[in-house]
Amino acid sequence: MKKFPLPEKTENILRKNGESGSFWEDRKDRHHCGIDIYAPEGEPVIAIESGEVIDVGIMTSPEMISYWNETHYIIIRNHSGLFCKYGELGSSNVKVRDTVEAGQLIGYVGTVLNSDKIDGNAPEYIQKLKDKNPSMLHLELWEKDPVVEDKDYLGGNWFGDERPKKLLDPTEYLRSIESH
Ligand SMILES: [Zn+2]
Repeated sequence: MKKFPLPEKTENILRKNGESGSFWEDRKDRHHCGIDIYAPEGEPVIAIESGEVIDVGIMTSPEMISYWNETHYIIIRNHSGLFCKYGELGSSNVKVRDTVEAGQLIGYVGTVLNSDKIDGNAPEYIQKLKDKNPSMLHLELWEKDPVVEDKDYLGGNWFGDERPKKLLDPTEYLRSIESH
């Protein structure tokens, strides 16, 4: 059985289409590849399904963009065949080739934005987040080998015009877990 990735969250927190942090949100020059689930920094993140860790790495860092903190991502190949990319983690608890069970602790929620470094040059949607600066889990769902490095992909956003075919909308996937 699948588990909701933030076990301490009980209310319905999934963004509706078009809302900030929703899947494929139009951010003018880019689209959002995942869904953002706001949660306090340091909150535990668990594996939704059992599977194998296929990649762990740096998702954002101040070396990439000055107003970013360092955060991490974990990609798990679920036994069901789908791939979950857990992003914007403050830290991860797993390594490549680990097998994980549904519900197993894999990392902790992190905070991407460094408010002090956000100035007028930042994209509009970033400037809107400056004062709130929410921490969150950024979750992507892929049908096949998730994109980590691509000229059109950066920090969980897609800069190309066309949505990658293997990138899925995780909204219903997550909603189906909530009802368990
Ligand atoms: Zn996101």
